[in-house]
Amino acid sequence: MNVNLELTDHCNLRCTMCSQSLRDEAHGEPHRFMPFQTWVAGIEGLAGLRDVTLCPHWLGEPTLHPEFDRFAEYAFKQNTNNRRFRHFKVHTNAVILPEERARLLLRLAAFPNMATDTFLAIHFSIDAFSPEAYARVKGADRRDVVFRNVERFLSLRAGAARPVAHLAFVVQDGNHHEVPAFVDHWRRHLLAAGREPVLATEWPPMDRDAIYLRRWNTGDQAHADRLHAGACASVGLRATDRPAGAF
Ligand code: SF4
Repeated sequence: MNVNLELTDHCNLRCTMCSQSLRDEAHGEPHRFMPFQTWVAGIEGLAGLRDVTLCPHWLGEPTLHPEFDRFAEYAFKQNTNNRRFRHFKVHTNAVILPEERARLLLRLAAFPNMATDTFLAIHFSIDAFSPEAYARVKGADRRDVVFRNVERFLSLRAGAARPVAHLAFVVQDGNHHEVPAFVDHWRRHLLAAGREPVLATEWPPMDRDAIYLRRWNTGDQAHADRLHAGACASVGLRATDRPAGAF
């Protein structure tokens, strides 16, 4: 069972493919940060549920929460013998991923007294290779800091099995031409770290690193599917048909 406890619906980017970036509210109210007591109650409420995969994210950028580190550490401290959640995963744009936070996340992945694959995966929403395409697609000039943060995280993770890393790229008008450079960059980086990433055209596996060429969901889906197929072909992949019910 996937449980998303959204730490915040604020975001520090304005991605062109994200409805979150197009409005001032996400849930019919101004953006907010979750109070700590709500998180405590949410973690407590997981007791007794089976096979929970907890993700502290839904519409916003979770690391933007001023107490993200405290929230994450609290959840793991409450999870002795996986009594609150079986798995944990993080989705982030990696704009705010300083070394201390990277080290904290890696410490949590090795937290004692729970299954070694509890911290399953970290999903990096990157979506561009060049600074120009990044600014165009993500709405902010943050490419270099994001690449630096993700590269440092991958280096610090070194030989640790968890979390696996998914480097995601939503293929769209402003970036589709950069797929080969994106794949080449992250493949070389992961290979240098001793990882053989899989190239994924749909949701990647949770047991290994992946470079994920994600389909854009938009009003003109046929156009988005063509872009996705072309981008996949540019790196030797065949895009699978859009799964029924995909979103
Ligand atoms: S970083 Fe994520 S939440 Fe923020 S605008 Fe981009 S896709 Fe949306």
